[in-house]
Amino acid sequence: MSRGQAARFAERTAFERHYVKHLSENANPVAILAFNATPPVKRKFPAGARGAYRADGHYIVAPARFEAMPDGAIWVGVFAHEMGHAIDLHGRPADQGGRSIWLAPAIRRDRDRIGERWVAARSRVAGEGREMPEFPPAAHACLLALIADRREARRVARQWRAGRMEEALAALIRARRGAPAGRSPACDPRLQIYGFAVVGAFIGAVYDLARGSGPPRAYYRRFRHLGTPTLTIAHAAEAFANAYVADVLEGTELLSFLVRTAAPHTHAAYRVLLARIAARHDGAT
Ligand SMILES: [Zn+2]
Repeated sequence: MSRGQAARFAERTAFERHYVKHLSENANPVAILAFNATPPVKRKFPAGARGAYRADGHYIVAPARFEAMPDGAIWVGVFAHEMGHAIDLHGRPADQGGRSIWLAPAIRRDRDRIGERWVAARSRVAGEGREMPEFPPAAHACLLALIADRREARRVARQWRAGRMEEALAALIRARRGAPAGRSPACDPRLQIYGFAVVGAFIGAVYDLARGSGPPRAYYRRFRHLGTPTLTIAHAAEAFANAYVADVLEGTELLSFLVRTAAPHTHAAYRVLLARIAARHDGAT
């Protein structure tokens, strides 16, 4: 898609408008089109509620204005995550899973590669080839913008490429903790930390917590299995929603690179599914 025809988020309701204007200007155009192909979400927010998406009513639980909340701009990330669920689940019975159940074979392929990847990470240390690709320039620029200390930024990039993903994410989160407020909600350090936590949760969902972080296994076990108890509709749905966040938050150049390299098969399948949803070829009405 050329710059002249850049996709824009549809702003169909005051709620959507208030949140999407704080998403990245460089959001993945296909992610934008998938948002636009999804009916506008309603909103509910009982006092003290946490973010959620409910497929039965097609609504997101979030405040009308995140600025008034103690967590502030974190809610922009929560909105993006719950929108990911809305795009995946709308019009489907929630207990059957979302369109994302289609990711299951790709998730299995990524899991099969874990052992291989650990070996590759070790041989990388020994200088015998590399498993993880180099950071592309846009992702690298993003990394340097977030970690002022160049040596520390290089160390984080090295950790990631060696397969030490959790260490790299922890270092990124440390670097933003206590950072001065950004120029805008999109650059709020708390939202940036949320973004890295989302990458960790994506990895946790793909690898059933053998790698990464996020909800505990007991959470995932409550949902319908996709062939095996270690792979449920919730693993697929969380992988989808978190990959979606990486596609639309400020810093997407870095976040999407991390998600893609952490689980290349799952990420490739997610992007194919996203394009089908964007083109309304997913069987949705
Ligand atoms: Zn979720």
